[in-house]
Amino acid sequence: MIFREKSFFGHVDNTISVLEDGVNTLILDTRALSIEDVGLVEAGGNTVKPLLFTLPRNHPALGLALQVPLPEGTKKGSQYTIRITYSTGVKSGAIQWFEPQQTAGKLHPYAYTQCQAILARTLFPCMDTPSVKFTYSLQFACPDPLIAVASGTPDSNNPTKCPNGFLRYNFKQNMPIPAYLVAIAVGALKSAKIGPRSSVWTEDFYLKDAVFEFSSHTESFIKAAEGIFPEIGYLWGTYDILVLPTAFPYGGMENPQLTFVNASILAGDHSLVDVVAHEICHSWSGNLVTNSSWQDFWLNEGYTMYLERCLLSVVMGGEEYRKFHLFLGYQELKRVTKDLLAGGDVEFTKLRPYLLGIDPDDAFSIIPYEKGCCFLYYLETTVGGKEAFLGWLNSFYLGNLRGTITSHKMREHFLQYFASKIDPEKLKSIDWDTWFNAPGLPAFDPSSSLVNSYSESAEKVIKKWLDSKDGCDFSPADIATFKPSQVMFCLDVINNHIPVNHKILEKMEEVYKLSSKNVEISNRFVGVCLKSKYGAAVPACEKILAEHGRGRYVKYLYNCLNEFDHNLAVKNFQANKHRYHSVIVNAFEEKLAK
Ligand SMILES: [Zn+2]
Repeated sequence: MIFREKSFFGHVDNTISVLEDGVNTLILDTRALSIEDVGLVEAGGNTVKPLLFTLPRNHPALGLALQVPLPEGTKKGSQYTIRITYSTGVKSGAIQWFEPQQTAGKLHPYAYTQCQAILARTLFPCMDTPSVKFTYSLQFACPDPLIAVASGTPDSNNPTKCPNGFLRYNFKQNMPIPAYLVAIAVGALKSAKIGPRSSVWTEDFYLKDAVFEFSSHTESFIKAAEGIFPEIGYLWGTYDILVLPTAFPYGGMENPQLTFVNASILAGDHSLVDVVAHEICHSWSGNLVTNSSWQDFWLNEGYTMYLERCLLSVVMGGEEYRKFHLFLGYQELKRVTKDLLAGGDVEFTKLRPYLLGIDPDDAFSIIPYEKGCCFLYYLETTVGGKEAFLGWLNSFYLGNLRGTITSHKMREHFLQYFASKIDPEKLKSIDWDTWFNAPGLPAFDPSSSLVNSYSESAEKVIKKWLDSKDGCDFSPADIATFKPSQVMFCLDVINNHIPVNHKILEKMEEVYKLSSKNVEISNRFVGVCLKSKYGAAVPACEKILAEHGRGRYVKYLYNCLNEFDHNLAVKNFQANKHRYHSVIVNAFEEKLAK
C-alpha cells in the first residue's frame, strides 16, 4: 500500500471450483479499480497464462463486471486459480485514508477498510455477494513503523522487513466468510490485553480508555454467547477489538476475529458497551450463518439485536433489563418508521425491501435491526418464551453452520421444528408474508409485555416533562439513578411529542446537561430540539457533526438540521465532509445540494 497515492496495488488470486460442466466465463465484481492483467495460474503457481478479459457493463450503483474466459471444456469439480493484477484508486470507497494531522497521534498516516455492504469490490475483484463465502490469505506491505491488523489470524512472524524498508504482514482466515467481512487497518497502532482471548488495538491516545471500557465486559459477553450456543461454541479462536477514529461511519463492524468499533463508544462509564455485545453476537449471526442477500439483511441484524439483548440480560441486568432494551428498540423503530414514511421512503420500512440494482447502503437504517428484532420477539412470545425460541435457533444455526440463509429457509425450518412442539393454530397464526413484505409498523405492539420498573420510572419522568409548564420543577435527581438507556428511552418517547415547548427544552438542558452526556443521548436531545425549532441547540448539533462521523448520529442530525435551516446544514456538511466516510458523503451530497 502507498499512502502518498492512496492506493493498494498488487494481485489477487481467486481460486474457483466449477459447479457445472461447460461453464465458460468467470464474472467478478469490481468498482473504481484499475485492472491491469488477468491470467490463469498454472504449474503450481509457477506460470501465469494471460487471459483476455472484458469489463463490459458499468452500473452506477454496482460497478463493472469483470468477465474472464475460462479454458475450453471445464468439468464439474475442477479448480482454477485466476490471478488479477490491479490497483485501487481514490474512488475506492472501501478505504478511508487519514493524513497524519487527522489522527490522534498526528505523526503517522492511518487507513482502514469497511467493505459492508458492497464495497469489497472497490478493494479487490471478487464475488461481492454474501451468498458466496471463501477462506483467504492476505499478504501486504506497508511503510515502517506502521502496524497492520486484519480480519484473520496473523502470522507468528509478523512483521518481516522487505528489501525496500516496508513491513510485510501475513494473515489467514480459515473459516469461509463473505467478501464484506474482509478487513484491514494500518496505522500507529498499539495493543493491550483485555481478556484471555482478546486484545484491543488502537492509537496510543485511546488505549487506556479502551482498556478501561472493554476489559470488564468482553470475555463475559463471549462466555454468555457461548452459553446461548453450547453445541456450537465460539469457532473463531481469538476475538480482538480495533478502536477507530470517530469518523468511522458505524458504531461497530463485525469483522471476524477483529471487531472494528468507533471511538465514540468510549463513554468512560461502559454505557455503550452494548456495541461490543452486538458485534460478538455477529460471530454467530451473520459471520457464521450469513444472510444470502442484502434483501435479507434483517437475518444478520435482527437476529443480532435479539441476541445482543440476551447477552445484556446475562451480563448486565437480568431479564428485566433485556425487556427494557427490547422496549427501547421498539421506541426507536416507531420513531424511524415515522421519519422514513414522512420522507417518502416507504419501501425501506419493509423487513425485506426491494433492492434490485440499488446500493444496499442507500437502504440502510435501523429497520432491519429493530423490525427484525421485534419479529423475533413476536415469535418468542408465540412459541412460549425465550428458552423455546433459543432451542429452535440453535437447531437452525447448527444446520446452517458456515452457510447462508434466506427468510424462506428460516420460515420452513421454524414451521417444521415447532410442528410437533406447539399448538398448530398458533403456528398458523403467524402472518409471515405481512411481517416480511408489508411497509410501516407491524401490527404487533410489544409494549404491554415489556413494561417494567425500568420503563415505569422513565415514564414518570416523561410525564413530568410533558406536563410541566415551565420546567421549574425539574431536578437532577429525576434521572440520577437512571441507566443511560433509560434517558435514551425518555428522549425517544419525547420525540413523539414534537414540538416541545422551548422553555421545557431550555430547562432540560440546564438541569440534566443532556447535550454533554454520551453521544447516544446528546444526539437524541439535539434532534428533539431541532425538530421543535429550538435554535439554541445549534452549537451542540454543530459540535456533534464536527466530532463524529457515525451515520446513525450524523445522518439523523443532518436531516434534522436540514429541516431547521437548509443553509446551515449545507455549511456544516461542507466544513466536515473531508472527515466523513464515503457512505456518509454519498448519502448527503445530493440531498444537501438541492
Ligand atoms: Zn450488526
